[in-house]
Amino acid sequence: MLGISGKVIVITGGYGVLCGAMAKSLAKAGAKVAIIGLVQQEADEFAQTLEGEVLGFGANVLDKASMEAVHQQILATWGPCDILINGAGGNHPQGTTDKPFMDVEDLNDDSIKTFFDLDPAGFKFVFELNLLGTLIPTQVFARDMVGRKGCSIINISSLSAFKPLTKVSAYSGAKAAVSNFTEWLSVHFAKTGIRVNAMAPGFFLADQNRALLTNPDGSLTARGQQIINQTPMGRFGEPEDLLSTLYWLLDEGSAFVTGVVIPIDGGYTAFSGV
Ligand code: NAD
Repeated sequence: MLGISGKVIVITGGYGVLCGAMAKSLAKAGAKVAIIGLVQQEADEFAQTLEGEVLGFGANVLDKASMEAVHQQILATWGPCDILINGAGGNHPQGTTDKPFMDVEDLNDDSIKTFFDLDPAGFKFVFELNLLGTLIPTQVFARDMVGRKGCSIINISSLSAFKPLTKVSAYSGAKAAVSNFTEWLSVHFAKTGIRVNAMAPGFFLADQNRALLTNPDGSLTARGQQIINQTPMGRFGEPEDLLSTLYWLLDEGSAFVTGVVIPIDGGYTAFSGV
């Protein structure tokens, strides 16, 4: 916590469920936190709820010019970026099949979206958002970090990067690419002073998956129940479950750690299911 105070931290997806909890905690710990999300008003409204020094920006991680404009404003206000958390990401229904397993008769059933109905545009959207949405902000903000001490990049991967989840082919592939990129960049930057690591959250209830995992009355859907059964700790994650790992990765206590992807998933990836 001591090492965080005064640091300039940029968080993409910074008013989302997971990264919003990180922004809240880091600002409270004395960091200067810039949160970037798609909608300026939502970024401003969220920033106002936080205690500490916080700026909200509405900008698209896929638009380098808009990232550079945000960068210039942060430089002018606080100076160079010390830490970048690449949290913007998500899925798209066009990269998702209806069923986990295809049955032979599904081939001629127009009511079922099988592998053959997946739209390459959906894959493109998901790969761009998760992979290029990590690459582009890193190209913009990591320039500030080269040759300085205590600088770090945290990418947000997923448990689906280790073993693909059924149905979400595009998302699983894109997050595997984020994990792979984390390793690649950690090696590329190893002599520059910048450490690059990733967190791989398990199942956390968020806006993007709430309808998939819970019914309107709060009870679990069949898929939600299947996930809980497959999670040895028997619960979904809470955004605060990510914080101690985040602090450790940002702290000098992990100064020799780079290129790791840490699952925070209640044992999901460790469990064989039997
Ligand atoms: P969320 O939907 O609550 O937040 C996503 C944020 O990303 C929002 O602030 C949104 O404005 C921003 N965003 C989306 N597209 C953007 C773009 N093009 N440019 C700028 N900002 C953009 O999601 P969350 O569940 O908090 O997820 C955060 C990260 O964690 C994502 O990368 C997600 O894939 C990953 N993740 C989530 C879970 C989970 O269970 N919720 C599990 C594993 C990984």
